[in-house]
Amino acid sequence: MTTVVWFKRDLRTRDHAPLVAAANLGEPVIALYVIEDNYWQQPDTSGRQWCFIQDSLDDLDKQLRKAGNQLVVLRGSVIAALRELKASHAIERVFCHQETGGQWTFERDKAVIKWCSDNQIEFREWNQFGVVRRLKDRDIWDKAWTELMRQPVLEAPGSVPFAGAIQGVAWRGIEPGATAADRCPDRQTGGSIRGETLLASFLERRCVGYQYNISSPNTAVRACSRLSPHIAYGTVSLREIYQQAKAAGIHRNTLPRKQKSLTSFRSRLHWHCHFIQKLEDEPELEFRAMHRELEGMKTGPNDSERLQRWQQGQTGWPLVDACMRSLQHTGWLNFRMRAMLMAVASYQLWLHWREPALHLARLFTDFEPGIHYSQTQMQSGLTGINALRIYNPVLQSQKLDPHGEFIRRWIPELAGVPTEMIHTPWLMTPVQKARFGGNTYTAPVCDHEQAARAARKAVGDFRKQHVSREETGRVLHRHGSRKGPHQARPKPASQPPADNQLSLFD
Ligand SMILES: Cc1cc2nc3c(=O)[nH]c(=O)nc-3n(C[C@H](O)[C@H](O)[C@H](O)COP(=O)(O)OP(=O)(O)OC[C@H]3O[C@@H](n4cnc5c(N)ncnc54)[C@H](O)[C@@H]3O)c2cc1C
Repeated sequence: MTTVVWFKRDLRTRDHAPLVAAANLGEPVIALYVIEDNYWQQPDTSGRQWCFIQDSLDDLDKQLRKAGNQLVVLRGSVIAALRELKASHAIERVFCHQETGGQWTFERDKAVIKWCSDNQIEFREWNQFGVVRRLKDRDIWDKAWTELMRQPVLEAPGSVPFAGAIQGVAWRGIEPGATAADRCPDRQTGGSIRGETLLASFLERRCVGYQYNISSPNTAVRACSRLSPHIAYGTVSLREIYQQAKAAGIHRNTLPRKQKSLTSFRSRLHWHCHFIQKLEDEPELEFRAMHRELEGMKTGPNDSERLQRWQQGQTGWPLVDACMRSLQHTGWLNFRMRAMLMAVASYQLWLHWREPALHLARLFTDFEPGIHYSQTQMQSGLTGINALRIYNPVLQSQKLDPHGEFIRRWIPELAGVPTEMIHTPWLMTPVQKARFGGNTYTAPVCDHEQAARAARKAVGDFRKQHVSREETGRVLHRHGSRKGPHQARPKPASQPPADNQLSLFD
């Protein structure tokens, strides 16, 4: 009797409950990963994500070989892969982690469950995140999250019974969907070893001053943990990160400054699941505004020139363009700059949220549907329960990149421009432009202050006319954060929407 352990976004052997459960049965185990071509056709997937997975598969295979097994990689649909395995092995069970993905993976999972049931194969899922399926009451979510994070971290099994050699495909060299078109020269490397090294360096040294250094794009590169793609593809378990951060924070030799940093970091791990829970509870968020009445705020196609200039880092606002170009090159950006990019697209450029959201998803190596779709909507004012955050790209630039280092690094056209002019190069005279360079940098798409005022008014007017207390109350009840475990259920907000949600700006 054989058990298939189906690896998805959980590419590790440590703290992997389905693998441990399969190994403990003492019967042959097939460790399976499937390259699903149809998945890689989805508009939020990209080559950088696939390359990170390839690194992680290399590492996973090594870990499995240490335990006397090896990774089997097949290509096509998961059902076709299981059918193929069933033809040669007595497959009795399929074990895997629960996934909160987009509609495509959700439908795929339902089809796999049905196929298993039709073929009398046991299908069993474990939870790796603090995300609760069929959650009845948001008020109890926090308790469920804490319980899951406190469960012991499982050691990687020392031995995983081998089911014999199976002809799979070599995952290196395969470029499913449109992944070949995406090059990301400075992408983060995948694999558990890399993830654990990052975690160790963060907890030992880099975390000190975390809360002060995560907003500037200059300091965030080192100050943030940089664990996001590892969490997204499961090369390191969230529970392990949480427990190690907690242990480091309460150690008697830990300085108070470091303790505070680690407390702040742990709250982000909580947000991780808080945001994914929103997509779990309402899968339509992938396509439609969280606050249904706000969906009608923007109709008609996007202004394609504005969209293109934003996508290419050619808006004429230096910090915005530097962020986009840096993201294209590295596949990562800190939270504040992600929020600014999305907000500028939604407000100053007045674009419908979905095309910008898909563009960013493809650029993020760490693309995580639950966080991504909830966050892109939040930064576009579509939740109805969070305050509008319209970023001023010049003020952000002066505050977070005061000397223009980040801008000069990513916008070579402005490399020679002095600091006092770098945030507003459009104000340079022709003589200054000729002297310092900057002639080749594009003029701004529009007057950002005027555009922000117009957007604020348009959103305000729309809300006054079209937003009901009932719908705002529904969103708050379903998705709102609960501060503290015993807080009473929140009352529906009156207009304008309450700004009492988790602050992501502290
Ligand atoms: C528009 C937008 C889109 C985003 N899309 C994604 C995405 O696709 N994938 C993704 O992992 N994060 C996303 N984020 C959240 C956040 O920006 C990243 O998690 C963070 O920048 C990753 O870097 P890090 O691992 O060094 O973060 P750290 O600051 O070290 O945080 C550690 C972990 O906590 C979680 N986390 C941190 N901040 C948040 C947050 N605000 N909301 C939810 N979880 C958080 C992440 O898992 C992160 O890896 C998005 C934010 C915005 C504003």
